[in-house]
Amino acid sequence: MPRKNLHIATFGCQMNDRDSEIMAQLLADDYQTTDDPGKADTVIVNTCSIRAKAEQKAFSLLGALRKYKKIKPEMVIVASGCVAQQDGRKIFSRMNHVDLVIGPQSIYRLPELLKQTKEKRKKTTSTEFIKSFTIPPFLPTIKNGLPHKRFVTIMQGCNNYCTYCIVPYVRGREISRAAEDIVAEVRHLVDHGIKEITLLGQNVNSYGNDQKGKLPNFAELLRQVAVIKGVERLRFTTSNPKDLSDELIDCFVDLDNLCSHFHLPVQSGSNQVLKRMNRKYSIESYLERVEKLRRARPDIALTTDMIVGFPGESDDDFAVTMNLLETVRFHASFSFIYSSRPPARSCEFTDTITDEIKSRRLACYQARQKEITMERHQEYVGRIMEVMVEGESRNRDGQWCGRTTTNHIVNFNSPERLAPGRMLEVKITEACFNSLRAVRVVD
Ligand code: SF4
Repeated sequence: MPRKNLHIATFGCQMNDRDSEIMAQLLADDYQTTDDPGKADTVIVNTCSIRAKAEQKAFSLLGALRKYKKIKPEMVIVASGCVAQQDGRKIFSRMNHVDLVIGPQSIYRLPELLKQTKEKRKKTTSTEFIKSFTIPPFLPTIKNGLPHKRFVTIMQGCNNYCTYCIVPYVRGREISRAAEDIVAEVRHLVDHGIKEITLLGQNVNSYGNDQKGKLPNFAELLRQVAVIKGVERLRFTTSNPKDLSDELIDCFVDLDNLCSHFHLPVQSGSNQVLKRMNRKYSIESYLERVEKLRRARPDIALTTDMIVGFPGESDDDFAVTMNLLETVRFHASFSFIYSSRPPARSCEFTDTITDEIKSRRLACYQARQKEITMERHQEYVGRIMEVMVEGESRNRDGQWCGRTTTNHIVNFNSPERLAPGRMLEVKITEACFNSLRAVRVVD
């Protein structure tokens, strides 16, 4: 039978990218993927609901698919991801051309649920959180992704219930994947030429906590992966500072292939705001961790997430957030205006901040971060750095682009074509806002 066509549109984070990769692979016997939804027999919209805007984008695409369904009534439209988990059957009343709604835990049942939906010609949902759910073993096909680097999911869900975040409601409680499955997947990837591995989870630092004694903790898992022959670079994301252990910091002393970059979301510089966010750490403990990390790996590049305009955030609270930026001098920040996301608890907080103040604070924070990022980039000028080739640079012909262990993009000329994953040395010649420029250091 000729394979049918599958179109997957993915919104949101790397977890969703990974889930889309898994869904495409689970359907690969019957489907080939197409970039054109009009040519598809089945369309999956893998949604994100971290902010209102992401949710609107997902619904506008789902809405746009109605016209294809009119032309091709047998087309099957699937809503997956966090909006699907959050809204469930409600999606059918809003988008009656959608046939199947599945949550993140149900992606592994997609072939069977799709078959069921088609045979019964009945709208189907699968959004339950299964108490005894375990993440099944999974070995990705190599050809479908980047040739030199991959994300490897190590866990799903989060138990932290930060008051502004809906992840625990749409991704469920923390479920750690079996360590041997993670190691097997990494071995499989490096056996097929992958050089850089990024371990992925909503809060990787708490890996194994849900099965204490049966699974290694995150630092132990990191060591198990780091010793796999062929792992030239090892990264991980995302961490909650409250679970940043000394053991994990020691990994930055001992593991040479552990990259010198740490994304450590702080969210606010004010203890009062952190308390209301239920972040479970103080700025003092955060700074103590940062100092310890920098002692362990002096060239480490720190990036963070910052929310401005959280309910009750006073001018003083914002001032200490700006002080924190001055103290840590992050290499970069992902900074956002607070937006209330039901059913997250902060939606009930009534002391909200006006949009005008929120925008003013965000602009102030981003302007200073931009200056600091440039100052940080300037510190690399003149240095010899090792980069892993990513491919041809997007901005200029003949230019190539690589990534440093500190996670900086470097553009440089090369007399020869370069394969992604090749490691080579460059001398940094210029600092730009989003990247660095360099010349190749010819051996
Ligand atoms: S740790 Fe991260 S994913 Fe978990 S609730 Fe907090 S912000 Fe959300």
